[in-house]
Amino acid sequence: MKKCLRLNHISKTYQDENGETQALKDFTYAFKQGHFTSIVGPSGCGKSTLLSMISLLEKPTTGEIYLDNSILTRKNCNIGYMLQKDYLLDWRSVYQNVLLGLEIRKNVTSETKAYAKNLLAKYGLIEFQDKYPENLSGGMRQRVALIRTLATNPDVLLLDEAFSALDYQTRLSVTEDVYRIIKAENKITIMVTHDIPEAISMSDEIIVLSPRPATIKKVHPITFDIENRTPLATREHPKFSKYFDLIWKELGEDG
Ligand code: ADP
Ligand code: MG
Repeated sequence: MKKCLRLNHISKTYQDENGETQALKDFTYAFKQGHFTSIVGPSGCGKSTLLSMISLLEKPTTGEIYLDNSILTRKNCNIGYMLQKDYLLDWRSVYQNVLLGLEIRKNVTSETKAYAKNLLAKYGLIEFQDKYPENLSGGMRQRVALIRTLATNPDVLLLDEAFSALDYQTRLSVTEDVYRIIKAENKITIMVTHDIPEAISMSDEIIVLSPRPATIKKVHPITFDIENRTPLATREHPKFSKYFDLIWKELGEDG
């Protein structure tokens, strides 16, 4: 059965010396396995806050998060998180970096090591396994970071502006790879980005958030009649610019 991550009336208010900041208000949504969902919204509206609650780094002020019918915990759900910076360790080889997430979870076994190797092989990185991060391009480093995250076999994959530090050409080619890998691995994927074309090119649906405190302004299903869809193929499709105009205008309304 397909897994489902359900956020039920989630709100988040931060308290610090400057007083209270409400970052999120009454967010309700069900993220489905195998679906790639992007979240776009004005800067500072609460996007990263949302991901930090899903990753259990922050607690919602009110509301609950469920995996299927159980409250989400570290025990019933493995969550992978990818950020803008790849956090590869310079003194470890590619293979040793890929094992890091497993080491942190104390889950290095012959089986998980074989799984990690298999991911490296499947996605074209096996010949680089003994290289060090400084010998890799930015795009390749980001792919290694993704494989490291996938090596722990997460149910949920969170991407927070994961490609925004890369130059345009690299970003295009990395998103091709990442899209293919994520689709093949059948995760619940949630990506935060400020790049509308990136969101359209990869997503099955896009959630547009309001300014802070973030609420769901609109959910757009993104569909293309393309056989074997890839991000680049969507960019050439006539519907692409229609989606872009729609979402661009919606974000612009909050100006
Ligand atoms: P986004 O990712 O959409 O740019 P964030 O989720 O990072 O926005 O932040 C939303 C709001 O919450 C911002 O006003 C930010 O300053 C505030 N915020 C985020 N984290 C904290 C924190 N740990 N303590 C206090 N305020 C925070
Ligand atoms: Mg952010």
